[in-house]
Amino acid sequence: MTEATPLIDPFKRAVTYLRVSVTDRCDFRCVYCMAENMTFLPKRELLTLEELDRVCSSFIRLGVRKLRITGGEPLVRRDIMTFFNAMGRHLETGALDELTVTSNGSQLEKFAGDLYAAGVRRVNISLDTLDAEKFARVTRWGRLDQVMRGIDAAQAAGLRVKINTVALKGFNEPELFDLVDWCRARDMDLTFIEVMPMGDLGNENRLDQYWSLTDVRTRLADRFTLLDLTERSGGPARYVRLEETGQKIGFITPMSHNFCESCNRVRLTCTGELFMCLGQEDRADLRAPLRAHPGDDAPLEAAIRAAIAGKPKGHDFDYSRQRADGQMTRHMSHTGG
Ligand code: SAM
Ligand code: SF4
Repeated sequence: MTEATPLIDPFKRAVTYLRVSVTDRCDFRCVYCMAENMTFLPKRELLTLEELDRVCSSFIRLGVRKLRITGGEPLVRRDIMTFFNAMGRHLETGALDELTVTSNGSQLEKFAGDLYAAGVRRVNISLDTLDAEKFARVTRWGRLDQVMRGIDAAQAAGLRVKINTVALKGFNEPELFDLVDWCRARDMDLTFIEVMPMGDLGNENRLDQYWSLTDVRTRLADRFTLLDLTERSGGPARYVRLEETGQKIGFITPMSHNFCESCNRVRLTCTGELFMCLGQEDRADLRAPLRAHPGDDAPLEAAIRAAIAGKPKGHDFDYSRQRADGQMTRHMSHTGG
């Protein structure tokens, strides 16, 4: 493989992390993410597994070192293991440092071993509550026991599990310490995510669900000593260690602007749109150059470079304004969170 000049944006940030949504479909309907009656994209709109391979491999050639596969629910896409296995070849050559997945856990009982075999070592599993009835309510279609079996299977296969929990006011507030204790008992890291004003607010006004992570932190500090960790992921996460237990706890506050200067990532949707920033509508269509030149990745790479040259400096979410300005019209299931 010839050496390519790495992707550096106009603010001198190297793009080394690509998040890829491989489907907009999901077997859950989490209330903050999807409407109950979703209309999904026609199949022809989606990148095929071969197209996903071409675009990810191009990014890797251009310096991406970490790939996170997400969705929708990535593990409901048909033959998705073919794609994971294909990406595994880049781990073997050393071109890629890490291949990870964000999942709701429902299919992990089936796929954990295959993911490990493909080279995946870490999975993020989204789980907002340990109560089966509440779980059914927040996911609408999910079953907690199925996800628990998925988590068991992931750990048994040797995958390191991190739990992602969306902080929801009046919903999982009373479970804060139960979640922390449960993760500790199972040796899993735990990250809280602030709910984002994605999609149409409709009658499920996300301002009503908003539970500030500043408050989560304060509540944790009632029981634990929080030691700030300096490590940064290049994304909107900050970490602390609980001195008493040694646990690592993350806080993802996508609305804050304080991470943009170190942002190292871009997001590819399942239709081949490249979003340069989570909070901006700027995007580039990579599907057109992919489909127009089936045997030649040069136009695709040129389109990627042109897109990165236009990566915005930062984004603009702000809950303090009552209308949730900066609100995005696209759903997380489309851009992959
Ligand atoms: N289906 C997979 C899952 O749930 O982990 C992957 C895709 S999901 C869109 C990725 C992450 O986005 C999940 O952790 C989910 O909780 C989070 N998410 C979805 N909608 C959100 C919102 N409005 N605000 C904050 N996080 C959200
Ligand atoms: Fe599906 Fe994940 Fe969205 Fe829940 S958060 S509806 S599991 S894509």
